[in-house]
Amino acid sequence: MAYAAFDLTGRRALVTGATRGIGRAIAEALGAAGATVLVNGRNPAGVDLTVAALRALGIAAEPLAFDVTDAAAAEAAIAGAGRIDILVNNAGIQHRAPAVEFPDDAWDAIIDSHLTSVFRLIKRVAPQMLARRSGKIINLGSLLSELGRANIPAYGAAKGGVRMLTRCLATEFAPHNVQVNAIGPGYVRTEMNTALIENTGFNAWVCARTPAGRWAEPEEIAGAAVFLASDAASYVTGQILYVDGGVTASL
Ligand code: NDP
Repeated sequence: MAYAAFDLTGRRALVTGATRGIGRAIAEALGAAGATVLVNGRNPAGVDLTVAALRALGIAAEPLAFDVTDAAAAEAAIAGAGRIDILVNNAGIQHRAPAVEFPDDAWDAIIDSHLTSVFRLIKRVAPQMLARRSGKIINLGSLLSELGRANIPAYGAAKGGVRMLTRCLATEFAPHNVQVNAIGPGYVRTEMNTALIENTGFNAWVCARTPAGRWAEPEEIAGAAVFLASDAASYVTGQILYVDGGVTASL
């Protein structure tokens, strides 16, 4: 017998950046749990391919391509998207450089994609959730929501911001039965990390620093999203759930 509180049948979930990596794995997991998944990414062709792949797995999927950093495009997409019960803010980019050389435009692009657009999207989706007194918002944090690291100042600032945005909105929305949480993945094998995975020294450092002794696969992050999106998490709000193989538990 399946545990009914994890069942997402009848829910509609928008997952930003769902064409690959962690977002793709979350979309598939929410869909397998019964949700209809609205697949987002910047590239319409990539979104359509993902929708087709999810449908081939028996998942109800719809395309919703837009750039999360384009406020007007996001507003138009949300206005035409119908009901959204679950919003997963996953889209984002990375840029690595020493702080004193960090390009101003890269700073702006990272803060925009990981933090400003998250707030803007929540602002546009939350009204319908608050009116229904039902909704789940899940933001992607990071180890960088908690820990510092060289050469990724914008990413760290954005992910620290995601942690506090999650707490502030959880506090504001809790009386309306809308839960806001975050997931903090450890090091995950995705395209965003290709250069790090191929860097022998960094790869060895990740495996040594992570008590589990290895990188995560994207699918290993997705179960946390199903939990946080489900009725099983009806009294969980304002939390950042680290799925990190023990990194934040250890020195
Ligand atoms: P990937 O680079 O593999 O995937 C990023 C996804 O976001 C793609 O679908 C991409 O599609 C989409 N995307 C990027 N920018 C935008 C935009 N402006 N608007 C819409 N879609 C966009 O990343 P990951 O799967 O590795 O990361 C996903 C999330 O998880 C990020 O928030 C990241 O910070 C977080 N995270 C990742 C970790 C890791 O180790 N990988 C660790 C901790 C957190 P397209 O390019 O077609 O638009």
